[in-house]
Amino acid sequence: MRWWMMPVMPSSAPAAVRAALADAVPDVYWTDRPALRPTPRPALTGSGHRADLVVVGGGFTGLWAAIQAKEDDPTRDVVVLERGRLGVAASGRNGGFVSPSLTHGLAQGLACWPDEVGTLERLGAENFAGLVESVKTYGIDADLHVPGELTMALDERQVGTVREAYDLHRAHGVPVSLLDAGEARARVDSPRYLGGMLDPTVGLVDPARLVWGLAAAAEGLGVRIHEDTAVTGFDEETSRVRVRTEWGSVRGRRVVVGTGAFRGVLKRLAWYTLPVYDHVLMTEPLTAEQLASVGWEGREGLTDAGNQFHYYRRTLDDRVLFGGYDANYHFPGRIDARYEQSASHDLLAAHFLAIFPQLEGIRITHRWAGVIDTTSRFTPVFGTALAGRLAYAVGYTGLGVASTRFGARVALDLVDRRDTEVTRLGMVRRKPLPFPPEPLRGLGVKVTRASLAAEDRTGRRNLWLKAMDAVGIGFDS
Ligand SMILES: Cc1cc2nc3c(=O)[nH]c(=O)nc-3n(C[C@H](O)[C@H](O)[C@H](O)COP(=O)(O)OP(=O)(O)OC[C@H]3O[C@@H](n4cnc5c(N)ncnc54)[C@H](O)[C@@H]3O)c2cc1C
Repeated sequence: MRWWMMPVMPSSAPAAVRAALADAVPDVYWTDRPALRPTPRPALTGSGHRADLVVVGGGFTGLWAAIQAKEDDPTRDVVVLERGRLGVAASGRNGGFVSPSLTHGLAQGLACWPDEVGTLERLGAENFAGLVESVKTYGIDADLHVPGELTMALDERQVGTVREAYDLHRAHGVPVSLLDAGEARARVDSPRYLGGMLDPTVGLVDPARLVWGLAAAAEGLGVRIHEDTAVTGFDEETSRVRVRTEWGSVRGRRVVVGTGAFRGVLKRLAWYTLPVYDHVLMTEPLTAEQLASVGWEGREGLTDAGNQFHYYRRTLDDRVLFGGYDANYHFPGRIDARYEQSASHDLLAAHFLAIFPQLEGIRITHRWAGVIDTTSRFTPVFGTALAGRLAYAVGYTGLGVASTRFGARVALDLVDRRDTEVTRLGMVRRKPLPFPPEPLRGLGVKVTRASLAAEDRTGRRNLWLKAMDAVGIGFDS
């Protein structure tokens, strides 16, 4: 849906949108804080290096893998290799919603693993608690708080969707509450809200500060971290894997790969993940008057209930982060900084002002995009390669802030050949359906996106979506 089709659009929208975006810096707000950003770690150079465990990727998966490996065995020698700066990719540029779900939501868990969903929900809650505990133990200052998540209904159809979600969560013991329009607006005031659901289990975090804090915690445990060190390939040796980098190499007994949407390091990952660009805006801090006009005293994370949805939050310094809705795939799965600025930001700004017309005049300070590693079932793909000496965990499909910690656990258990509760899960043992090769892949994404948008408009699921449901493929917009 284009902004001019939004049901409640202020008549001055185009000018208001232009004004709001006029001074926006094309950069990620979270990492654009030079005073907080740590100095870069040195690149790995030379070829005589050795480690017990080499971790590829300095996002949440890689850092949690390094930390948990040291917690398992403090004598283990662990090195992390990151091609850019820590948190340069999804981990440092996301919305910071910390959801306990390991399955991209309860409904998706039930659809994919009906017999396992109880275990997956419990493991998700344990993982969330473990994350909170680690943040405390390592003294990570990342604004982690648990205000809950409000799913708001923006039209009558979404009222029904929210009601169904409420019933489903209650039936599975999640202590959600249902809000009518008045109750929803009493929490956060928008003329668009017709109702909502509060899930009190969801937290929020400053993602870049979490990345930086995890890196410091890992180093405190003795992990070596190298930035600006792209891994270019692997050579199998008798008892080790030689991990080649741009400027050298390191021989590791075991390797964990957590490279998110970047598939180059292990070709097979390209069958299972699609890089999809998701867009985000950050406003200037709201004035006292603007705050009074929206309420939002609980600082809940917000989302809405369409297939194409927004996510938004009030930061602790009273900015509003507003993202989502218009995700883009670039044929043939290309990742390029050029795609980080697009008309999707205009659309988002228009939607933001449609939801909060009382904030017209606000300035957006940052606009950016990040790549989501999307799988056909919205949950990660796990596996091993190089005779079991390498394990990977990628494909969190936009819900990885907490579940990457679990993904790292799985990858460690796999690479250490441990038979554990998590390695026995169907979600871990069975891979999602691979995507077809191009050009079918790009075409499939296009048709699916159009079908999901049509469902948002009409409430009807077309034949294409029904066929995808039948074979267990979806596309998260
Ligand atoms: C815009 C946006 C908003 C999001 N919002 C949320 C949210 O609110 N809540 C939520 O739960 N999830 C959210 N997500 C998803 C979440 O950010 C990710 O699931 C999570 O950060 C994935 O972490 P990761 O470590 O697996 O991957 P990444 O963060 O992508 O890290 C992978 C790292 O590997 C490095 N790398 C790649 N190739 C190589 C190589 N050859 N050699 C060395 N290093 C390499 C990359 O540079 C990168 O730093 C969002 C994602 C985006 C893009």
